[in-house]
Amino acid sequence: MLVRPTFIVEDITAFSLDLLREKGIQGFIFDLDNTLMAPHTGIIEAYMQEWLILITQEGFKTICVTNNKRSHYYNAAEKVINMPVIGHARKPAREPLLKAVDLLELTPEQVLVVGDRPLTDILGGERIGAYTMLCDPLTKLTEPPTIQFLRKLERLFVKS
Ligand SMILES: [Mg+2]
Repeated sequence: MLVRPTFIVEDITAFSLDLLREKGIQGFIFDLDNTLMAPHTGIIEAYMQEWLILITQEGFKTICVTNNKRSHYYNAAEKVINMPVIGHARKPAREPLLKAVDLLELTPEQVLVVGDRPLTDILGGERIGAYTMLCDPLTKLTEPPTIQFLRKLERLFVKS
């Protein structure tokens, strides 16, 4: 099984919004941990917060789907990232992602699923027929060697 992300980026905030528009993308489904904020922190960096405001002003719709099971955490995150959060999602399951598409009032072909994990975020996005963007994890440089090794293994499933 290989996943083939539509886009592979280091930094989601550096990506061309015009290129997304050309593909007909009108909404984002974001992963939470390591995509929008460092895991378990509940803190979003200023540059990310500003970019989220920018894409909203540019007319893109946003929602977050996380596999995180701790409701007090992801409910609190909702206020920090200023968009609805669907928690305990079990990506790559289709249902939570399709629910997010419905809440955005878009179709899967109009949505970009963004995340740092090939076998949850990207596979899930592919399974619903959405565009996908694999990003580098925000904590890439500070992760312990074992986690970095597991990430390298998971990247073997990515066909670029
Ligand atoms: Mg993640």
